[in-house]
Amino acid sequence: MRPSKYPLLSVDEAQAIIHSHTRVLPTERVWLNQALGRVLADTIVAEFNSPPSPISGVDGYAVSSTEGAQPRTVVGELTAGGEARIGLQAGEAARIMTGAPLPDGSDAVVMVEDTSETAGVVELTVSPRAGDNVRPRGVDLTVGQTVLEMGSRLGSAEIALLASVGVAEISVYRRPVVAVLATGDEVVPAWRTPELGQVRDSNQPALLAAIAEAGAIPVSLGIVRDDRGLQAERIQAGLEQADLVVSSGGVSVGSRDLIKPILESLGEIHVGRVAVKPGKPLTFATIGEKRFFGLPGFPVSTLVCFEVFVRPVLLAMQGLRVRTRPRVEVVLAESTRPAPDRTEYQRAIVRFDGQHFSATTTGVQVSSRLMSMVGANGLIIIEPGTEPMPAGSRVPALLTGPLA
Ligand code: AMP
Ligand code: MG
Repeated sequence: MRPSKYPLLSVDEAQAIIHSHTRVLPTERVWLNQALGRVLADTIVAEFNSPPSPISGVDGYAVSSTEGAQPRTVVGELTAGGEARIGLQAGEAARIMTGAPLPDGSDAVVMVEDTSETAGVVELTVSPRAGDNVRPRGVDLTVGQTVLEMGSRLGSAEIALLASVGVAEISVYRRPVVAVLATGDEVVPAWRTPELGQVRDSNQPALLAAIAEAGAIPVSLGIVRDDRGLQAERIQAGLEQADLVVSSGGVSVGSRDLIKPILESLGEIHVGRVAVKPGKPLTFATIGEKRFFGLPGFPVSTLVCFEVFVRPVLLAMQGLRVRTRPRVEVVLAESTRPAPDRTEYQRAIVRFDGQHFSATTTGVQVSSRLMSMVGANGLIIIEPGTEPMPAGSRVPALLTGPLA
């Protein structure tokens, strides 16, 4: 076998090298209503107590609990956002609506349902205890409390919280722009009927979708023939408009595999081979400040390599604190045979029975079989070995989707 000039790196080594070349992107300001899915670049701290004073949690009567269940004279009404200012004397109560501040002299609210009011006097069917139906000062937020950590992805709950503390414009990390190129003389667009020897381009649509799922901005560079000049030109065009370029195909050692030589002339290859199955010829290069991933052409190799090597980079560039998938230990439902020299990522359906995670593979695992990706919610990690692993063996798995 012809020796490759690229050392065969372990998955961990390759990830570490790639990570050492990854930088968080600069920040930008966005309005809260445009912030969904963005990553917060500041830590937000509460500057006031919420609520600022005790408020009523129900519609009812504000009372002093020290006076027990005796009837009280109703001296006024307090509404949320209302103007009225009332202080209670002995034997008095105030009608109060949800969200209104408690009057001085009261420490509890009796629900309307537990009262009856006639001729300005309210009778109680319960004996109130201090704090009943009152939302104390600071129960939602206390001054100085960290509301959201820098590096959090903003969903609807986070956006609600930011609005509630009065943060209407926020600092977020810029989204990476990622250009995608499909290579191959045999590759035709999905809308064309392939002739003998041709394949439809599934990698580019897959990568564009996966990039968007990771919160980055995908840009298509189309399909390019296996021609060094044309591919180099298209890569340059991608580097001009994107932070990162991802290609599919053309990274192994065939005569039509041109990506590595092009990258060598444009920049520096840091990863040229990885002991991973599928995806051994995975390539990572830097070209000035830009990054390049050359993913192998087989559709499963493309997506698995994206998941294991590219996605964490896109998350890191966005400043996300958590960049890894949840990792759990699963019990194998079937026996398997490890690859002798490579870490294998098998597509699987992971289930949780309340105590253990179990994993059933999605069938034949060859790297051309996209059906092995569809419906998978996990990747089980089979470290290299020589002995078959019986059903019931325990191995790590990455959860890539919701539990089955
Ligand atoms: P390569 O890595 O260029 O040697 O490609 C390996 C195999 O992956 C090819 O023989 C094709 O069958 C397949 N392939 C390459 N590019 C694509 C693509 N964009 N979409 C689907 N399959 C592809
Ligand atoms: Mg090819």
